[in-house]
Amino acid sequence: MPYPDVIAIDGPAAAGKSTVGEFLAAELHYLYFDTGIMYRAITWLVLERGLSVDDEAAITELAEQAQIDVGPADVSDGRQYTVLVDGRDVTWDLRKSQVDDNVSPVSAYPGVRTALTAQQRRIGQRGHVVMVGRDIGTVVLPEAPLKVYLDATVEARARRRYLENAARGHRARYSDILRAMRRRDRIDSQRDTAPLRAAADAVVIDTTDMPVNQVVATVLKLAQERDP
Ligand code: C5P
Repeated sequence: MPYPDVIAIDGPAAAGKSTVGEFLAAELHYLYFDTGIMYRAITWLVLERGLSVDDEAAITELAEQAQIDVGPADVSDGRQYTVLVDGRDVTWDLRKSQVDDNVSPVSAYPGVRTALTAQQRRIGQRGHVVMVGRDIGTVVLPEAPLKVYLDATVEARARRRYLENAARGHRARYSDILRAMRRRDRIDSQRDTAPLRAAADAVVIDTTDMPVNQVVATVLKLAQERDP
């Protein structure tokens, strides 16, 4: 059965992108690539080096030079992949709240986006990939034959993130998660360069009241119906 060679999945935080993307990639024997980790990796480096989040020039230089390697999970601790930044395993560090709090301002810098978009495009152009992010269908791989935009109310997304955190033993407050998510949505969708939005030809799916297996089935059906 032919499938679209590249599947772009965009949407705000906790809309279901990574669960759906990972499942779909496994089902189709494609590479799953989560572009959010690249922006998180740069943000982690900014914090690690004690740079100011306002220092656009230094952060842009960092994004141009940093070595971010993403490979298969080499530790079975629930991770989807292993991320090395300059050779150091930062897979779980990228999920810390300090990274959550600073990733959107860092991602808004045009020079950061130029550097990371170029790397993402190279990965996408090899084909057989499910790529997830905020601007995959609009900017990174606008020629992708299947584009999906997953959405959900901010309350539903914050609840999911709260439950995910709790399952990993992190007891962040729901109200704090909700506030941080609203801020991230606002910065991501209002930035000038590659803002979060659905491509004109994306299939938009509201996952607010959908169990994740139903979202997966819907997207898999779209992939099966679409010619490559
Ligand atoms: O998907 P995730 O929540 O890990 O993404 C973290 C942040 O990275 C987003 O809030 C956004 O600021 C940035 N991002 C982006 N473009 C992408 C993927 C992520 O700007 N393609």
